[in-house]
Amino acid sequence: MKHNYIKLLPQPIFKNIFHLEWELSSKCNYHCSYCPSNLNDNKINFPEPNKFISFFQKLKNIYPEKKFHLTILGGEPTLWDKLIDVVKIIHSLSDAKIHLLTNASKNIKWWEKNLELFDNIHFSYHPEKTNKDEFFEKCKLITKTKKFLAINCMMNQKYFNDSYKFAKKLRDEIPYIVVILKPIKINDTKELIYYTDDQKDIFLNEPVLIHKTHPPKTGISFGSSIMNTIDKNGVIKRINVSQLIIKKQNSWKHWECNAGVDSMFINMNGDILRCLSQPTLTLGNINNEYNLDVNPMRCPLEFCSCKSNIFISKKQ
Ligand code: SF4
Ligand code: SF4
Repeated sequence: MKHNYIKLLPQPIFKNIFHLEWELSSKCNYHCSYCPSNLNDNKINFPEPNKFISFFQKLKNIYPEKKFHLTILGGEPTLWDKLIDVVKIIHSLSDAKIHLLTNASKNIKWWEKNLELFDNIHFSYHPEKTNKDEFFEKCKLITKTKKFLAINCMMNQKYFNDSYKFAKKLRDEIPYIVVILKPIKINDTKELIYYTDDQKDIFLNEPVLIHKTHPPKTGISFGSSIMNTIDKNGVIKRINVSQLIIKKQNSWKHWECNAGVDSMFINMNGDILRCLSQPTLTLGNINNEYNLDVNPMRCPLEFCSCKSNIFISKKQ
């Protein structure tokens, strides 16, 4: 695919950040209709904390100058009874920022007790499962602390209007909140489910709803939807990642990409991946052997499938 720019970079505020994503298990208390079953089948258990701590220390030694942003996700990470202990250890070892991606099903007491441990929180809103009133109260609690809170509002067709209305209510009534309208993919494919033209227009014109107060500037990359493009004359433009996906402009085949150098993903089996789009190209496994000291790579793929992969620096 031809692009009218030669570099795609995160905003300068995210320079020198190492973005690490850690998928804990396939345990989830929800079974959303659009979720691939391997992400919620409860077959893969939570990991061994010490293996991750040792991996994290090695990574920090390779990149002593970088700041770490750790995203903890799925199935549902708050089901792990070791989660809070592990997060406390990571805080004791580093100044890493910790980002939690959760379906927000823990009760409000849990959030009151543990909120301070997380720098950035992403709730996913699942209209089939979530109690809207409780969800709303948890959003209020978190934003009271002026933490960054983003909502991934899952736009399944059956509930589209209701979810859009709820997204606007959150945007209008909860200071600092960011609501991302998430189009849903057909299971195990990169294709989106059917949306009417009006619905597609909503994704194109208003993919992210932001309260008028705007979120606090935390300097944390997760949840950022804006990248910079730089053309051959050095002209910089801002570009919205969700729109790239909707317009199918998310292809950088043969470009040089910093996957594995600025960013890594550990899947629920413990495999260490340069990027999520390449599940077979691993750097090893945190439970066995691995090599973390790697150079940028040429992208071999037709499409760069998700926002966190697109967020990695790339150049022609
Ligand atoms: S909450 Fe998330 S991980 Fe759990 S079933 Fe729904 S989409 Fe899948
Ligand atoms: S698919 Fe992976 S290697 Fe290719 S551009 Fe995206 S992040 Fe980089």
